[in-house]
Amino acid sequence: MRYTSTRNSSYSFSFEEALCSGYAPDGGLFVPTNLPKIDASVLKSWSLLSFSQLAFQIIRLFVSCNEILDEDLFQICEKSFSFGFDVVQDELDGPHDIVPVKKIGGSSYIVELFHGPTFCFKDLGMRVVVNMLSYFATKRQQNISLIVSTTGDTGPAAVQAVSDADNPLLTLLVHFPKGQISAFQRKQLTTVNSPRVHVVAFEGGGDDMDLPIKNILSTSGWNDMGGHHEDNDVNVHVHRKSFVCGVNSYNIGRPMVQLVHFVWTYFRVAEREQIEVGDVSKPMDIILPTGAMGNMAGGFMAKKMGVPIGRLCAGVNVNDITHRAIQKGEFYKSAKMEKTMSDAINIQVPYNFERILFYLSNGNHVQVHEWMKTMEKENKLDLKGEWLDKLQHEFSSARITDEEMCETLQKVYEKYNYLVDPHTAVAIAAAEKNNYRVDESQSDLPYAILSTASPCKFEESVTVALGKEFWVNYVKDHFPSRAKSIFAKHENEPTVYQHDDSLSLEDVQKVWEEHSRKIIHEKFFGNHAST
Ligand SMILES: *Cc1c(COP(=O)(O)O)cnc(C)c1O
Repeated sequence: MRYTSTRNSSYSFSFEEALCSGYAPDGGLFVPTNLPKIDASVLKSWSLLSFSQLAFQIIRLFVSCNEILDEDLFQICEKSFSFGFDVVQDELDGPHDIVPVKKIGGSSYIVELFHGPTFCFKDLGMRVVVNMLSYFATKRQQNISLIVSTTGDTGPAAVQAVSDADNPLLTLLVHFPKGQISAFQRKQLTTVNSPRVHVVAFEGGGDDMDLPIKNILSTSGWNDMGGHHEDNDVNVHVHRKSFVCGVNSYNIGRPMVQLVHFVWTYFRVAEREQIEVGDVSKPMDIILPTGAMGNMAGGFMAKKMGVPIGRLCAGVNVNDITHRAIQKGEFYKSAKMEKTMSDAINIQVPYNFERILFYLSNGNHVQVHEWMKTMEKENKLDLKGEWLDKLQHEFSSARITDEEMCETLQKVYEKYNYLVDPHTAVAIAAAEKNNYRVDESQSDLPYAILSTASPCKFEESVTVALGKEFWVNYVKDHFPSRAKSIFAKHENEPTVYQHDDSLSLEDVQKVWEEHSRKIIHEKFFGNHAST
């Protein structure tokens, strides 16, 4: 399998090169040159696999055996989906595994994606990506420094995965917006004592570090090392000993691994609803809280590969660019990032919209290139007519305020005795706004809501919705035991990047970029680095 850019079909990269690069050299996102197809018979043959076996089968379609041998890939999957996960016994038949799918009423299902080490779905994609990078680092004896910006959950997942991979060749620089993540999330970042992890708090909005990171990757990333090698998957002659790799969801590894839980969800729901696996006349809609659209991109890819998925519905908060795009075809950054109680989906420009557009246009690189050029020039994209129709055929959306989110969280608890986190509450509220009936005894077709994080990470929101006393009792009686220990740990002070108000955001970002380069090269790469 080869990889190319969303904006240009003439590139040809191996999986390793795409994974290690993060962005494509032209600033586009990597996509496989041909999206693999899964036909109904193959789908059927996979329907009873364990989560990690299913992950192996799906990832195998994207990564050739020359690059990672079967047994190595199998081990990577096993390792990624066992250590630190709870295996949850669900109340019904079907494989008991790390991702329980629970029926909450009528034909509606909740998919608990948060039983991993950091209590968030990000563990699922991130751990495989980090373990694959660790594998390649060892194979080539190269230092890889991972770089991420987090709106709350990507950071902890990356910190934990890098610390668990325990490979001296693999280090991590993580940036979070100061004061804009929950206390629990901050602790997840600042209580890990590893010389291989460096944590930065920047005084800005959730995606203000995206540009500096993109710039760092463009000069210190894999692409800069003499580019790609058209003819040979295996023999990449790379001389640099160290490079920086971005692992936010623009990295193809993230949506690729995340599509596994969409397929898994389809199997579990089909089983309960007695739908024949692969029956395209009975597609399943999926509603999910949406930020950078990495999860959405995984779902859309699964659909394009042949999994009977119907509409994908994006639940967003008042940072609503994705909602505006889906409703009106207007894709542009809002004036400023609003603080919300669902901070993990605070986003101004979701990078994976580009992958969504790519698959929406059936892989039309020229069209995507044109769109992105317009976006770069005018900071705005207008999708009208045919394109807006196509977009609305595949996607729906709803914008949920904090108040609506809290009401939903409260209502779901009172009605079903089921506590959800604020992001899942955004998705449930979005489902209701789109007329998915949670409480109806028999609705037409089943649908699933993705629950992306455990409520244990969100004391503030749960307290606002259900009261202080509720929280205290929850901590006493139902708090995951793995989560309890984090309160007792000592926090290390993160490095702070200040926002000099006399400077423009652009100049502030330049200063931050220099700081980050310095940390990577001095702390992680020592003297042998070159920029
Ligand atoms: C990251 C995150 C999301 C959004 O996922 P994207 O792939 O960025 O759209 C939703 N919920 C939680 C809890 C998250 O951490």
